[in-house]
Amino acid sequence: MNHWKSGLAGLATLTFFWAAPAPSGAAVKTELKPYRGIIHVHSTFSSGELTPAEIVTKAKSAGIQIVVFTDHEFVRGEWGPPPFRNLFGISRDFRPSVLKIGVDTYFNTIEKLQRDNPDMVLIPGIEVAPFSYVTGNPVFGEMNVHDWRRHLLLVGMGRDAVKKLPVPGNELSTRYFRHLVPGTLFFLVPAFLAIALLPFRGWARWIGSAVIVIGVMGAIDAHPFKSTPFSPYLGPQGARPYQEIINYTEANGGFALWAHQGSLLKNQKTRFGRLKTRPHAHMLNETVVYLGFDAVYEDHFTASKPGKEWDKNLVGYLSAIRPKPIWGYGGLDFHSERELKCS
Ligand SMILES: [Zn+2]
Ligand SMILES: [Zn+2]
Repeated sequence: MNHWKSGLAGLATLTFFWAAPAPSGAAVKTELKPYRGIIHVHSTFSSGELTPAEIVTKAKSAGIQIVVFTDHEFVRGEWGPPPFRNLFGISRDFRPSVLKIGVDTYFNTIEKLQRDNPDMVLIPGIEVAPFSYVTGNPVFGEMNVHDWRRHLLLVGMGRDAVKKLPVPGNELSTRYFRHLVPGTLFFLVPAFLAIALLPFRGWARWIGSAVIVIGVMGAIDAHPFKSTPFSPYLGPQGARPYQEIINYTEANGGFALWAHQGSLLKNQKTRFGRLKTRPHAHMLNETVVYLGFDAVYEDHFTASKPGKEWDKNLVGYLSAIRPKPIWGYGGLDFHSERELKCS
């Protein structure tokens, strides 16, 4: 049996219910129709092996009507030596990604496919890694990148919102200026005051010069135009980096889904260091206003078991503690046909 077809049809096909419009003048009655769709799909825009066009062709032949592409925003590693980790930091892209190739190219490609395939619904979503923190260092030992695989799928935002995503490594932004500027002034003010020492001779001049140099370097390192306010060098920061992205997505007309929250990445060795991620279903209860979570996945999924995170969430909603109920979905996390091992 064709692996692709069996995989798509059996393993992770979603059923979407689409509201068909009622005839004009008719009594208000919404008719729901089932459609077959797949979500969490990677193409050559990030870690996938097939182009979007190849995916659409194969999905169509398997009877899939809706494809939600979710290529990565970045597949990138970053590290900088203390004390000025940003100023002297280096980053390396390990794979293509949407922000690296270009958001317009990504959207244009999928929009053209949509025009060529009017019988399907093709949506350019994106998968983001809002935050990870590092310990150790790659120069004198082993570097560990924690929470590398805490991912969210963002669907429904326009291209301009995707371009300005508040994720690590994105372009400069004024979004967090007020939050970050105290850190900049912490270095800049002493540097400015130290100018008064320059007319003197001897030690005073040397000290003044040193304070100016360190202050200017520190101010550049702690500049207030970063794309995210969360530093990877300050350890875990709870749910805040994830809630920030969820709120951003909601504010820009999209919705967010937790992806593979049960996945365990023990110690994956890469050229960049060891990647680690513990299952993090607890994030389903620590964050709000996202739309859903991976209820069907091949790893340690526990959130949909009785009394666990899904139930807690829904009880919270019924008790008016949480603003929204959450939905369970089956994420495909498709990268290549080889991964679909159904027979
Ligand atoms: Zn992922
Ligand atoms: Zn993925």
